[in-house]
Amino acid sequence: MIQTKIENFLENEIKCKCCGVLNISDKAIISLQAFRYMLNNKYKRNIRLTVNSGCRCRKHNKAEGGVDEIRNGILVTSRHECTTKKSDAFDLISPDLDYKTLYQEAVDSKMFNTIIRYDIKHFVHVDTEPRPNFEIKAWSWNK
Ligand SMILES: [Zn+2]
Ligand SMILES: [Zn+2]
Repeated sequence: MIQTKIENFLENEIKCKCCGVLNISDKAIISLQAFRYMLNNKYKRNIRLTVNSGCRCRKHNKAEGGVDEIRNGILVTSRHECTTKKSDAFDLISPDLDYKTLYQEAVDSKMFNTIIRYDIKHFVHVDTEPRPNFEIKAWSWNK
């Protein structure tokens, strides 16, 4: 099996902020790194990305207001929640790009399947939740 070094992100940035649990999908972390490389190449300089939230244990996910409910007998949690499954989500900001530009770049990059712009808190959520036909969904909301 190929094991690779992720150049621009540390476990510290990705793990749960309350307990340190780290359970992230390979696809998600590879996509995040690829997005970072794409930005550097496009802008011809280092575009830093800050992960405000990556993995969240179930308790921390609830504390952050993340989804945690039973639907049709199945537990549904946010993409960040990593106790019952692997997380594949990141909440991002950049010291080098405003959040609206970051959102548009994340959409245009086609590295993620869901991109959400938070217009009050000023960050961008991305995740690699598989969708039928590799669909990409993106929206903004007043949160
Ligand atoms: Zn935790
Ligand atoms: Zn998020």
